[in-house]
Amino acid sequence: MAKVFVTRMPPGDAVERLRAEHEVSVWPEDDPPPREALIDALRNADGLLTMVTDRIDGELLDAAPRLRVVAQMGVGYDNIDVAAATQRGVIVTNTPGVLDETTADLTFALLMALARRLPEGERAVREGTWPSWRPAWLLGKDVHDATLGIVGMGAIGTAVARRARAFRMRVLYWSRTRKPDVEADLGVEWRSLDELLRESDFVSLHVALTPETRGLIGAHALSLMKDDAILVNTARGPIVDTAALIEALREQRIGGAALDVYDREPLPLDDPLLTLDNVLLAPHAGSATLEARTAVARLAASNLIAALAGERPPSIVNPEVLGQVKHSLQGQAQG
Ligand code: NAP
Repeated sequence: MAKVFVTRMPPGDAVERLRAEHEVSVWPEDDPPPREALIDALRNADGLLTMVTDRIDGELLDAAPRLRVVAQMGVGYDNIDVAAATQRGVIVTNTPGVLDETTADLTFALLMALARRLPEGERAVREGTWPSWRPAWLLGKDVHDATLGIVGMGAIGTAVARRARAFRMRVLYWSRTRKPDVEADLGVEWRSLDELLRESDFVSLHVALTPETRGLIGAHALSLMKDDAILVNTARGPIVDTAALIEALREQRIGGAALDVYDREPLPLDDPLLTLDNVLLAPHAGSATLEARTAVARLAASNLIAALAGERPPSIVNPEVLGQVKHSLQGQAQG
């Protein structure tokens, strides 16, 4: 039996499945384990099940000499230093394919809610400031027939494009790799990033956070957007230069921003974003449904079990480690 540490109790039967094969301890609190507790828990661990809140870097991996696999619960893994893991022969896995539709649902919910000013409307209802019906009160902007620009046509970007087509939207996209199959399937049109920003009524971000995409939407990008365009970010906070975004929103150089992700999470109460009316702020809830989180946890557990059995995990991020001695694919699970 290998020793496995799970950094929070996920929904569903994932931990039960892990316990059937390995000795498993689960961080008992709702908040993530502090750094020292994580280091302590990893001294003898062979496997680790992580989430977006756990920072896994070289220092931590050096404190975990037996560790063979880090199984992330999530498709994004920018919290893990994959190069450091690969260097140390540690497998990293993620969970693609089980949360795309759920995250696309939330993306579309945010887009529609801000377009139709639902947060302002709800505040008015609750606060008793809802005036009589007025012909020009709380006017939003139409979603149907508008132009949506998708930045990053990966799995979630594609799922969002599919929803947009059902709303008769014209869909433009920019992606590092052009996607002729998606263009043919969904009738989406490729644009350079600058063209996309100029032409879109809604811009939705779906690139992974990497050194190349950090700050991708900065002052220049924001200056190209239409003055009533809405930016939606359900990818990662640092893809947007937040200071530039706040300035653009304050000066009403863009129409608004619907955000699920931030530079700092939870968003501190003194964050200037909270002073703005033309924003909608969600609490990093892209994959937060019982169905999706259960599937995500199950896939993370399957990845972990496979890696510890010396088998190729279903969704490995750094397959190059499989050639290394630690992972000779000979079924070398150990106690
Ligand atoms: P995916 O299928 O792997 O797609 C990743 C996208 O990022 C692709 O469009 C890819 O471009 C692009 N990309 C990757 N590295 C890049 C680079 N160096 N430069 C430019 N573009 C790059 O992932 P996904 O499932 O769609 O998820 C996308 C992101 O959403 C995740 O990484 C995660 O951060 C975020 N997410 C957030 C939530 C939430 O709760 N809000 C939930 C799930 C995921 P090409 O395909 O063109 O090469």
